[in-house]
Amino acid sequence: MVLKVRVNLVNISNKNIYVRLLLVSVALSCILLPGCSYQGKTTAPVIGKEALESVTKEKSPSSKIDEKEIAKAERFEAEIFAGFDTVTRIVAYEEKQASFDETLAFISERLEYYHKLFTSFEEFPDLTNVSTLNRLASGKPIKVEPDLFNLLLLSVQMSEDSGGAFNPVFGSVTSLWKEATAYSLEYPEKAFLPEKEKLLQAQTHTQLSNLILDQENQTVYFLDPEMKLDLGAIAKGYALECLIEEMKLRGVDHYLISIGGNVKALGPKEDGKAWVVGIQDPFSTSGIYAIQDVVDLSLVTSGVYERFYQYGEERFHHIIDPATLYPSEYYVSVSIVHEDSGIADALSTALFNLPLEEGRKLAEKYSAKVLWVFEDKSYEEYNFTDTGKVVK
Ligand code: ADP
Ligand code: MG
Repeated sequence: MVLKVRVNLVNISNKNIYVRLLLVSVALSCILLPGCSYQGKTTAPVIGKEALESVTKEKSPSSKIDEKEIAKAERFEAEIFAGFDTVTRIVAYEEKQASFDETLAFISERLEYYHKLFTSFEEFPDLTNVSTLNRLASGKPIKVEPDLFNLLLLSVQMSEDSGGAFNPVFGSVTSLWKEATAYSLEYPEKAFLPEKEKLLQAQTHTQLSNLILDQENQTVYFLDPEMKLDLGAIAKGYALECLIEEMKLRGVDHYLISIGGNVKALGPKEDGKAWVVGIQDPFSTSGIYAIQDVVDLSLVTSGVYERFYQYGEERFHHIIDPATLYPSEYYVSVSIVHEDSGIADALSTALFNLPLEEGRKLAEKYSAKVLWVFEDKSYEEYNFTDTGKVVK
């Protein structure tokens, strides 16, 4: 029997945001995620391409549909492109299509707003964002809105706690790598690495102590005119955390959101069970390396396979080790489970740049769960398997 899946293409705003909605019944999802726990390799991730594709598969002959569950709520899934230059995936249980559409429009609008506030790539009329600070904050203190000020406060805390492994004022160095990456991807035959001299010069403008945050006046001031903020390692997670708080205030429950791999669950699934989220296998484009149960928790992964370019025989990815000024070489992926998605995001980058034991200490300090995957396909974990499992 081929199960019925309705697919809609909806334009939810005038900004050309196309939303792909996949509507399936909750009974169907329970067949696909038996018990929705992580017993055995057959459990599918509830978010990601694999989960979307798996719903079109035939029902196993031994599966039974629980009649009582059919009427309750429907499971909705959508993919939207709303800021942070990445796809946001949403899975939810709602009673009505209209409620899901309304929440989806809200998510889209808020993520676009946070993207505009935290980007270092462009400025917008009537908005003081990270880009504005990079241009003006060395001239005089600049007042920013609380969402940005609080993100900067958290960034400073995470930087201090990680001994600079996560550095929010690393923009002078990361921009050299971003230029090299963009050019090398466009002209692979002319691929190049940033010059060592330039990297060392840029490094002199990455002192956190030159970032002056005035809490009383909510202003930001750079003591070093060459210093540049780059919040790329924390902004997605922080925005997701803000969004989830706003959704809670609207009385929304039973949502799972992933902004480009930064995942957070708002409540459990409709049946009270945990969401099972898959972590991508760093060694294949579609496989799952591990799974994790999440309820009101965030799961964030930083990996070398996400964004990189080829130079000669080697790959150069986008997480830069402040100790070497080159892409970090400790791991191929680091996954963090923490209730706060902003903290999880910053920790994923920080731990990526730290030796195992130092990373473990930082994880302990934040009561975070961690899965480190190494180049040789082995792994280490810290409390990760309490609620998760490596399925590779
Ligand atoms: P992703 O953005 O792919 O989820 P990360 O959260 O690890 O991955 O963030 C990587 C981004 O953070 C880079 O693209 C860059 O903008 C920035 N970055 C790179 N190295 C560092 C670092 N050592 N400290 C802070 N930010 C960094
Ligand atoms: Mg990060």
